Amino acid sequence: MNILDDAERILEKYPLCNHCLGRLYAKLGRGILNEIRGLSIKTLLAMEYHRRMQTMKKDYCSELRILAKNSGEPLTTLYRTLCIDEVSVERCFICKNTLSRELYKSIAQRVIEVLKRCDAKSFVIGVLLDPEVKASEIEVLSAASFKYSESIRNEVKREVGKLIRDLGNFTPDFTNPDLTAIVNLNGDIVAIVNQIYIYGVYWKRGRNISQSTWYKGEVKKYPYSIEEFFNERLKDLFAAEKIIIHASGREDVDARMLGTGRPLVIEVKNPLKRSVSLNELNEALKGTIVEALLHEKTSKKAVKLLKEGLAKKCKIYKALVLCDRELTDESLRELSEFFTDINVNQLTPARILGRKKEQLRRRKVYEVRAKLICGRIYEALIKAEGGLYVKELISGDRGRTNPSFTSFLNSLNTCIELDVIGVCDI
Ligand SMILES: [Zn+2]
Repeated sequence: MNILDDAERILEKYPLCNHCLGRLYAKLGRGILNEIRGLSIKTLLAMEYHRRMQTMKKDYCSELRILAKNSGEPLTTLYRTLCIDEVSVERCFICKNTLSRELYKSIAQRVIEVLKRCDAKSFVIGVLLDPEVKASEIEVLSAASFKYSESIRNEVKREVGKLIRDLGNFTPDFTNPDLTAIVNLNGDIVAIVNQIYIYGVYWKRGRNISQSTWYKGEVKKYPYSIEEFFNERLKDLFAAEKIIIHASGREDVDARMLGTGRPLVIEVKNPLKRSVSLNELNEALKGTIVEALLHEKTSKKAVKLLKEGLAKKCKIYKALVLCDRELTDESLRELSEFFTDINVNQLTPARILGRKKEQLRRRKVYEVRAKLICGRIYEALIKAEGGLYVKELISGDRGRTNPSFTSFLNSLNTCIELDVIGVCDI
C-alpha cells in the first residue's frame, strides 16, 4: 500500500477532516497527532497535484476540484490559484467537523471541574458516540486499510485524557479510577463517582445488634446495627450517599463479636470527599459497644475474595450452655474428646427455615473445650469451620443437627450466651 494513493482514493469518495483522515493511518509514525497526519497527507497531495500539472501538461482541474471539495486546505488554495475557480468544502463524512483541539480542551476543562468537585485524583474516560457517527466510521474504514487505523473513540479518549493529565495534574487509571467520565462529542459529560473500598475488622461487644439494619414494615427489628454504626461515623466524613458493609460471614444478632474481630470491607457509595486519612477514619470508629479498625484501601475485587475466602476461615466461639440435668467434669471431658475433628451434619436450622430453603450442610468441628461452671451450667470453647450453626451444634435442633451436645450427653442442652472470639485462617 502506498499511503498517498490510498488517501487520494478515499478522499475522492469521502470528505474527511484532518483528524478523521489522519486516524486512518494512526499506527504509522510515533508521537504525531492524527490532525497533523491528516494535514501532512493533504499537503503532500497538493504538492503532488502541483507537480503533475506542471510536468504532465494535462489539466487536472476536475480531479483536483473533487479532492479540494473533500479535503479543504491546502488543496482548496491550490485549486483556486491553478484552476481560477471557487470551491466550497464539504463537512467531514465521519465527525461532521466536530473534532478539534478546542473541543478536546473544552471537554477536558469540564471533566477537570467535575474531578475537583468530587475530590477525585484519578480518572478514566469513556466515549459515547452517536450511532450515525459510528456507522460513518465503519463505512470509511471498510473502504480504507483497517490495518493502520484507530477508532474515533480511541482518539477522543487519548487526547482528552492527556489534556486532563497535563492541565489538571490528574492520573489516568484504567483499573481503579476515582471517577469515570463518559463524554459525548456534543460536549455532554456524565460523571460516575466510583466507590471507595476499605478493608478492616469490627467488634461487637453488645447483644441484639444486627449486622445490617432489619426493618419489619417501618419499624427496626433491632435497635442498632453494624451498618448504622458505619453510616453514623463515616458518611459525613466522605460526604457520601451511604456506606455498605461486606463482612466475612455474620454472627447471630444475640452473639457478641469479640477477640480478633470480624474482617469486612466497607463500600463508600458516591463520595464527594475522598482524601480522608485512615487515621481520621479510625479515630471516628473508636467506640465501646461497637468498634472498628480499618487497615487499608482496597478494590471491589476484595469483596469477592472476602466472600470466597469465607469457607477457608475457622471460627472460635465461647458458649454458655444450660443442660437439663446435672453434669460432671468427667462427662464434659468425654464431650470435649468426642468433638475433636468431627464432621457434623446440619439441616437448615428450624429458626431460619422461613428465610432459607432446607439444605444439608456438613461442617467440621476441630476442637471443643468444656468447663463446668456449676451443676447444670458449663462454658464451651468451640473451634469450627466457618458456617457451622453453633447453637444447633449444642441443642441438636430436635435431631436436625447430628451429632450434637444434646445427643452426646443424652439430655437437652441450650446455648444461653454466645460470643465469637476469633475469626482466623484454617
Ligand atoms: Zn472528521
